[in-house]
Order: sequence, then structure tokens, then C-alpha cells
Amino acid sequence: MRPLEEPIDGEIELSSRIKHLIDLAKEARIPKKRAGYIEVDEFKDSDLKKGYFCATCVYFVNVQGGKCAIVKSQGEDCNGKFSKVIAPHGYCSLWAPNKTMVK
Ligand code: SF4
Repeated sequence: MRPLEEPIDGEIELSSRIKHLIDLAKEARIPKKRAGYIEVDEFKDSDLKKGYFCATCVYFVNVQGGKCAIVKSQGEDCNGKFSKVIAPHGYCSLWAPNKTMVK
């Protein structure tokens, strides 16, 4: 019997394939500028459940500052601002409403 932490060859191959697929998916994401992404700092403290913000978009994942399923986290936005996250108060032209949050 092998120790629980020790992966067998098939598990290593599967996890490296999954990692490769995740890397491909990340690469396939759209750059911020091409998506028309902007952040307006004045909206940081607004009620983000109202209006057209990443926070209520179906593609937004609120982890490590914010990620998007289709727009790259790292890069320069249309206002020339560089960041490594998709901010909850951001917005882009690909916005799709999260009908559970938007009224
Ligand atoms: S508004 Fe655009 S950048 Fe923001 S989460 Fe939605 S698709 Fe991604």
C-alpha cells in the first residue's frame, strides 16, 4: 500500500494535463483593451449590485481581487491603467448580466 500523499504515475499525468488545459484556457482569454475593459475608481465604494459592473457579471469570479472567465486579469485597460485583477467595479463591452443579482 502506498502513502496517501504519493501520487501514482497516472495521477501525475492527469494533473499535468489538467494544468496544461487550464494554462490554455488562460491564454485564450481576451486582453483588457480588446474587451473594452475600464475601471473608474470613483465607483469603488458604490453599491455594485446596481448598475453594470463586473461584480454582477456572470463571467466574474471574486477570488484574489477578481478574475474573469473571458478577459485576462493582467494588463492595461482602455484608460491606460495597469493591474493584475479584474476589479468588481470594472466594466467591459462583453458584460453579461447575472440575473440573480441585477434587479
Ligand atoms: S464585465 Fe467584462 S471584464 Fe467584467 S467580468 Fe464581465 S466579461 Fe469580465
